[in-house]
Amino acid sequence: MIPKPQLADLSVYQPGLSIAHVRERYGIDRIVKLASNENPYGCSPRVREAVIAHLDEMHRYPDGAGTVLAHALAAHWGLDASQFVFGAGSDDVVLMIARAYLRPGDETVMADRTFPQYRHNARVEGASVIEVPLRDGVHDLDAMVAAITPQTRVLWLCNPNNPTGTFVSHDALVRALSAIPEHVLVVFDEAYAEYATHPEYPDARSIVMQHDNAIVLRTFSKAYGIANARIGYGVAHASIIQTIERVREPFNTSGLSQVAAVAALRDTAFLEQCRTKNAAIMQTMYDQFASWGCAAFPSQANFVLVDVGEDARDVCERLLKRGIIVRGGHTASVRYPTHIRVTVGTEHDVQAFLAALPEVIRR
Ligand SMILES: *Cc1c(COP(=O)(O)O)cnc(C)c1O
Repeated sequence: MIPKPQLADLSVYQPGLSIAHVRERYGIDRIVKLASNENPYGCSPRVREAVIAHLDEMHRYPDGAGTVLAHALAAHWGLDASQFVFGAGSDDVVLMIARAYLRPGDETVMADRTFPQYRHNARVEGASVIEVPLRDGVHDLDAMVAAITPQTRVLWLCNPNNPTGTFVSHDALVRALSAIPEHVLVVFDEAYAEYATHPEYPDARSIVMQHDNAIVLRTFSKAYGIANARIGYGVAHASIIQTIERVREPFNTSGLSQVAAVAALRDTAFLEQCRTKNAAIMQTMYDQFASWGCAAFPSQANFVLVDVGEDARDVCERLLKRGIIVRGGHTASVRYPTHIRVTVGTEHDVQAFLAALPEVIRR
């Protein structure tokens, strides 16, 4: 058998360590997992009710187009239901964009470093990946625009950026968009948008309204707290959505995930509480890091990338022995070898992490 040649240098996604795995390997009962940017408060209780109410439909195929959710989101955004496409997580929307827009030999522009799935899916399609270094941990928009050629089809912008947590402002984005040619699809991955509190964080709605070549990705996996349901979406001009719909698997999201998403979307109070607690607890992390002289990137998300000043692999291992899981910068998905990426957990979990960190680093 002869697989696509480009698969030879691609690796299988390495997820963060699971709680069960660490519990077994280190014999520790109480595990603190701050590695995958999950919502530490779970999800809205209304999600549970909605999912239970839907269990009698398990034998039915879902509405693959997610019509009810599309209408709920249309009302939420003040846009049309034809402007939404759903994926099994926004990861799936990334895959569909690559499948729909990238051919072998096409070019695609992204940051170095950013969310690894853009690169991975572009490579699967045989596209050439042009990576533009971050500047002080932030997307270098001028350099990214300068990297566009007639062969460029897709430009990826992760905002806030994973793994740095940094963001680019609305004005900077609008300026960049005015310099990007119409033949380039600009993807704004806003997986952490609901956490952003900065007044200059982009207004995605106005960008979608004003630019026919922009798509914004959102997910229910992070602030909405239903990562296990696997549902996210793209919002764009209807012509882009129609293109992506052609490559979407007919039943890529389940009915359970769709009703869970509708319920999550409606509980605005839960979301607001999560955002407020996230901002307050993240501030306590910054205060501690500053007191130890550990530089940390300014985050608008629910994680912080902090420089621990030594090999992240060792620091992660020492934290694991204390039952604390974080994402190390030595991993392929982060690539900041002396940093660790720490999810903003509950007050209790973050205090456990902050108590352990000075014991495991030299400083
Ligand atoms: C978590 C994450 C996603 C997607 O998560 P899904 O669970 O697939 O929706 C997308 N982009 C970034 C930057 C993320 O961190």
